[in-house]
Formats: sequence, structure tokens, C-alpha cells
Amino acid sequence: MSQFELVYERKGKWIRFYGPKADPQEIAEVCKKCKQESLKGKPSSIAMNCWKIVIEFEEKKRKMVEEWIKDAIKKYPKLTGEFSNDNVLILYFQSGWNSMWKFREYMVNEWCRRGLLPVKGRYFIPYRRGGSYYDSKFGSWRYWGKNYYSDKVDYSLVNEVKAECPYDGALLEWSNTKLICPLCGLVIPLGVIYEVLENGVAEYEVKSGPRSGKIYRVALMDKRLIVEEVNPCSERG
Ligand SMILES: [Zn+2]
Repeated sequence: MSQFELVYERKGKWIRFYGPKADPQEIAEVCKKCKQESLKGKPSSIAMNCWKIVIEFEEKKRKMVEEWIKDAIKKYPKLTGEFSNDNVLILYFQSGWNSMWKFREYMVNEWCRRGLLPVKGRYFIPYRRGGSYYDSKFGSWRYWGKNYYSDKVDYSLVNEVKAECPYDGALLEWSNTKLICPLCGLVIPLGVIYEVLENGVAEYEVKSGPRSGKIYRVALMDKRLIVEEVNPCSERG
């Protein structure tokens, strides 16, 4: 069993943990280098490759979250993250979007199965690129690719993509920085579309209005954005 012991490190209100194949020193080095390189006016390529899952959990489920982490590192021995005494869990994926996305799919299933979702009635497991401390300097992370690394992805496709509303089939129309359904008001934010152009798929949660709490998955298929509502614990659980 000892090979699956977590290494804990206390830092103020945070407790950091390292899976058996995670190297604390290496991880710290990457973060340090990222912060140095990001002083040059844009998010470093390390930040672009770094993804995080940041989720609150319920105080009464803290033990269950810790149990889940212990099980998760058996499957993902490089897993690294930290949780705070005010119930926030952050998981780090320094090796790119794919590893984060794959892990997140697993996590959604597990959190449904174990009753860790919903959190305060919400089912969305939030993720992001790089550290949130960069947003104030470089703007929202969903725009970093378009604004700082536009040579990597053909963002001009944003003017060509079409999307149909999953509820009524209407063609979504541009309104400032979003596509919106003229019939029911369903919205896809521009940043999410940039994300889809880069990674092929993205998920977002509606934060306010009549659809507050609903989760949508957007995927790209031949210049069409396929939008679907996802209900994590009823479909996948
Ligand atoms: Zn609609």
C-alpha cells in the first residue's frame, strides 16, 4: 500500500498533495520558470500548457474528497493538487489540455458515483488554463490563445462557424462577443468558441438567468459547432 501514500505539504491554508510519481521539485521548478517567462508581456508557453481543475466542495464531504484523491492517484499516480481549509480543491495538469480533459471526464463520473456532485446544487466541474493570477494581467484565459498565440490555431474560422440551437434548431446569431439563439436566448460566449477552435471541445456553465446552472458542451465538426446540454449525473453517472 505504501506506494500509494500521498505526500502532503502544508502551505498556509492550503494542503498540497503529490501522487507517488509526481516530483514536487520538478513541479515547483516549472511554476517558477512559468512566472519568470510570463513577465515578458504574455502568458508563457508553460502557462499555455498548464491546466487546472478548480472546484469547491462541501465541508461535510471533506473526508469523501480525501478518500477519492487517494483512489484517484492509484489510477493517475502523477496527480498533484491542493485543498484549502475553506473547501476549495485545485488539481494541476502541467502536461497539457489532454491530460486535464481526460482526467476531468473520469472525475465527473467518479464525483457523480460517490455523491460528491452536486456541490451546492451545481454539477459543473470548472477548469481553466494557467493560474488565475494571470487573468488580471493578460485578460480572461479563454482569450489567451487568440490574443497571444494566434499563429497556433486558425481563429479566423470564428467568422465561418455555424451553430444550431439544440432546443429549437434556430441558427445562432452574433451579438457582440457571443452567439445567441434568436428564439430562446441560448448563448455561446466567444471565449468558449476560441477554446473549441483550439481543443475541439469545451464545456461551460451558464452563470445567471433562466438557464443558470445548466452545462453545455460544444464540439467542432466541419465548421459546425455542435451544442448539447449535459446532465452529468443522470447521463454519465
Ligand atoms: Zn434556441
